[in-house]
Amino acid sequence: MKALRWHNTKDVRLDNIEEPHAKKGEVKLKVEWCGICGSDLHEYTAGPIFIPAEEPHPLSGDKAPIVMGHEFSGKVIEIGEGVTKVKAGDRVVVEPIYSCGECDACKQGKYNLCNKMGFYGLAGGGGGFSEYTSVPEHMLHKLPETVSYEQGALVEPSAVALHAVKQSKLQVGDKAAVFGTGPIGLLVIEALKAAGAAEIYAVELSKQRRQKAGELGAIAIDPNNGDVVEQIQNLSNGGVDVSYEVTGIPPVLTQAINSTTFNGETMIVSIFEKEAPIHPQNIVLKERTVTGIIGYRDVFPAVISLMAQGYFPADKLVTKRITLDNVIEDGFEGLLKERNQIKILVQAK
Ligand SMILES: [Zn+2]
Ligand SMILES: [Zn+2]
Repeated sequence: MKALRWHNTKDVRLDNIEEPHAKKGEVKLKVEWCGICGSDLHEYTAGPIFIPAEEPHPLSGDKAPIVMGHEFSGKVIEIGEGVTKVKAGDRVVVEPIYSCGECDACKQGKYNLCNKMGFYGLAGGGGGFSEYTSVPEHMLHKLPETVSYEQGALVEPSAVALHAVKQSKLQVGDKAAVFGTGPIGLLVIEALKAAGAAEIYAVELSKQRRQKAGELGAIAIDPNNGDVVEQIQNLSNGGVDVSYEVTGIPPVLTQAINSTTFNGETMIVSIFEKEAPIHPQNIVLKERTVTGIIGYRDVFPAVISLMAQGYFPADKLVTKRITLDNVIEDGFEGLLKERNQIKILVQAK
C-alpha cells in the first residue's frame, strides 16, 4: 500500500510498504481523510522535531522512516484480539497520543504532559497519510452519523483549540483576542464562540486569513493599521480578559500580554522556535498571568459533540482537497507556497 514516510529533512517519500494488520489490542482502519498540520511541515522543512530519527521512540518502538499524518478519520475494517470498543464498519477518529501510563503526569490523568509523550503519526506506529493503518484501541473515538469523515479530520487540531480555551480563565461573556489566525487560531475563534466569548478580536497580517476570521464572527484587526495594543484597548474599552498567542513570533507575545485588562491572562498556544523577551513590568503592574498548553487531553468527545452542533466547520476551513498521490507537490509544497491555504485535506486512495 501507499504511505507517506519521513526519511530525513526535506526527504519525504510516497513509499510502497506492507499493509498493516490489527495486532492484539489494535484496530485496522481504512483511512478516509487526513489533514496536513503545521508540525508536519516543520518536520519536512526543519525536522526531526518530534520524529525519532536516531533512537526508536520509547513507546512506539519505531524510528525513521516514519509514516506521517496524525489528523485523520477512518473506517474500522479489522479488530485485533481483545478489542471491545469498536467493530468493523464503525466510523472513527484517532486521538494520536502515546503516553506511558506510569509517570506522575499520567497518574494524574494529564497524559499530554507524559515524560515520554509522542504523537502517533510523528513518533511512529503508523499514520494517516497511508491507505490503511493499525491503531491502539484506546486512541479511537467514534464519529456520529451527523459528523462527516472530512469534518472528522479536523477533530485533532480543534482539540488543541478547545483545550487552550478550556485551560484559560475565560468565562461566558468575556472578551478575548486571538493573535494569528492560521488553522489553529481560527479554531480557537470557534472554541471561543462555543465558550460564550462576547467579543473576539483577531489580529492577523494576511488579508485572506483576516477575512476568514471575520467570516467566523471575529472582529479582524490589521497590524498594518497602527498600534495593535492601542486598537484592542480602545475597541474593548480597557483590554480583553484573555488573549491567545498563536503566531510563535517573539514580539507578538508582548502585544498579546499588553492587550489584556488588569488581571488579564495570556495563553500561549504556539510552539516558539526562539526566545521571546518580555518586560516583567507588563505582567507585574497589572497583575496579569501568562500560561500555556501543549496538545490536549480529555476533549475529543466534546469537540465531536460541538461539531455536530456546527462548530469548527470544515466547509469554511478546508481550502483544498487532494489525494495521497499528490501529497508532496500539492500538499506540503502547496502549503509552503500558497498563502491563501488554510487546511489541506488528503484523501487516502
Ligand atoms: Zn497537528
Ligand atoms: Zn507518562
